[in-house]
Amino acid sequence: MLSDAKAIAETVKRVSPSTLVILDGVCSVASEEIRMDAWGIDCVVGASQKGISVPPGLSITALSPRALDVVKNRTQPIAAYFASYARWLPVMQSYEAGTPAYFATPSVNLIYALEASLNSIVAGPVSLEDRFKLHREASARFRTQARELGFETVAVSDDASANGMTALYTPEDVPPPALIGALAKRDIVIAGGLHKDIKTKYIRCASSIRPRPSLSRSSGPRD
Ligand SMILES: *Cc1c(COP(=O)(O)O)cnc(C)c1O
Repeated sequence: MLSDAKAIAETVKRVSPSTLVILDGVCSVASEEIRMDAWGIDCVVGASQKGISVPPGLSITALSPRALDVVKNRTQPIAAYFASYARWLPVMQSYEAGTPAYFATPSVNLIYALEASLNSIVAGPVSLEDRFKLHREASARFRTQARELGFETVAVSDDASANGMTALYTPEDVPPPALIGALAKRDIVIAGGLHKDIKTKYIRCASSIRPRPSLSRSSGPRD
């Protein structure tokens, strides 16, 4: 599903200016337009494994200065240990100042992978705007073809469909586990449903984009 994050953030700011707006961007970071500053979003919670195309294992979070102030001025201590901003922020600030600091060993391999991916996203052959456009086009094509094959989108309309991932109800005679298994035999990996009310009825497919072949370093087409 694609939420109208801009309108939600604007509404929250109007009705309750002190409320922080937190966006779950696990799927959407790097596949959908998210204007954190311009839309007044205070926190974007992301992860490595979807739009950013890195193996799973990193939680990637961006905070606005306002949200950071809230973190710093908490009266109750943060309950989390490893995931506490209070423990990681001094480490991050030290590194930014050019001096190392330690709290716990980070997932170094994943952070190298993240750097490679972010470099290709921000400095690769496709601009961020074009990247979002390619995602919109790829998912629109994918939805059209899936509908022709008898699938129905879980999103009620194209406007409400995410562009980095498409959730599809399978036809009655095609149970998701059978389809997922058959595709896996062809080295195509898709995921089952998660929403508790409908999870046995639908599949989730990531629609990734194809870099311009002339500038791509991979030998074959990627899709
Ligand atoms: C996939 C997804 C999640 C789940 O992420 P995990 O890293 O598996 O916890 C949460 N939110 C959104 C929007 C997602 O697409």
